[in-house]
Amino acid sequence: MSDTLDFEITLTERPATADERARVLADPGFGRHFTDHMITIRYSADRGWYDARLQPYGPIPMDPASHVFHYAQELFEGLKAYKQPDGSIVTFRPYMNAARMNRSARRMAMPQIPEELFVRAVELLVGTDKAWVPDTEGHSLYIRPNMFATTPTLGVNSPASDYLFTIIASPSGLYYPRGVKPVSVWLSQDYTRAAPGGTGEAKTGGNYAASFAGQAQAVEHGCDQVVWLDAVEHRWVEEVGSMNLMFVYGSGSNARLLTPALTGTLLAGITRDSMLRLAPGLGIPAEEGKINVDEWEAGCASGEITEVFGCGTAAIISPVGHVKGSDREWRIGDGEPGEVSMRLREELIGIQYGTRPDPYGWVHKIA
Ligand SMILES: *Cc1c(COP(=O)(O)O)cnc(C)c1O
Repeated sequence: MSDTLDFEITLTERPATADERARVLADPGFGRHFTDHMITIRYSADRGWYDARLQPYGPIPMDPASHVFHYAQELFEGLKAYKQPDGSIVTFRPYMNAARMNRSARRMAMPQIPEELFVRAVELLVGTDKAWVPDTEGHSLYIRPNMFATTPTLGVNSPASDYLFTIIASPSGLYYPRGVKPVSVWLSQDYTRAAPGGTGEAKTGGNYAASFAGQAQAVEHGCDQVVWLDAVEHRWVEEVGSMNLMFVYGSGSNARLLTPALTGTLLAGITRDSMLRLAPGLGIPAEEGKINVDEWEAGCASGEITEVFGCGTAAIISPVGHVKGSDREWRIGDGEPGEVSMRLREELIGIQYGTRPDPYGWVHKIA
């Protein structure tokens, strides 16, 4: 039934004026401003998905006993809409986000949402608020689907029976307003992000709540981001901040790419997957494997590892220039973003913004 669910549409009586919108779009930052509308869809165990709405953006009344506030049954997604040279709007691989949301939902004992309904909801919100999709080069509309448990009960022996799915959208500026600059990273020894059997491969808020202390520690040590190591041996490199990590070995026509394999404790990034598929097309072999901190340090010392970068929807790529741990410290490259990193970045951006062909069929036109 729910894949044919109709949306009840209520447009806001007070949309932002063209002037207000222009002021926001001149310097949107990230995640600070929201468009005029939002999507809400309810779920209950007996009815399935129901009450789908496009409505004015605003607060949601919540019972303080709602399951999510006590037991963190929650998950989210993140994707972007991009303005094309001909003025049309696309999103990037939205069915991957829908599929990943359902994988997260399985782990969090939450309901599956039909992929078609997810994508239709994204299209409806972006189509309605299309004036908020920035024209400025490198800017985009960040789309944030979210699902959380609303059942008002403190009973903890079972998952909730009621959920709310929402989508909000936020114009987003350049991640690196002054040009892409390598970041410094802290090797976290005191904290881990995810353990085997845990929720590391689900995009759930709890993973972020658990990461803030590690991130704060990185900042205390003068670093921009935290590198997460495996929870068992504290040696194997997993992710950086909330991005997947890529290692470039060699250079020029001998360059190759390695990224940590999806062991169950890593989040399966859509940018990561796109890099793994784009690189071979550019003559850069790419593989999933394992790398520990000793190999990372030795590889940089010998010159075998030439570039390292994080990748994710928000930053696209974020080069790593400096690594610091409690008893070691080393540099990667010369303080400038590497050639392979920037080439992959250009290629992906070109596909997303419609200035390069899309041989993979990744862009999805908003009707
Ligand atoms: C969302 C996320 C990523 C990146 O995924 P993309 O789909 O590429 O944006 C990587 N790691 C973590 C922990 C994440 O939450």
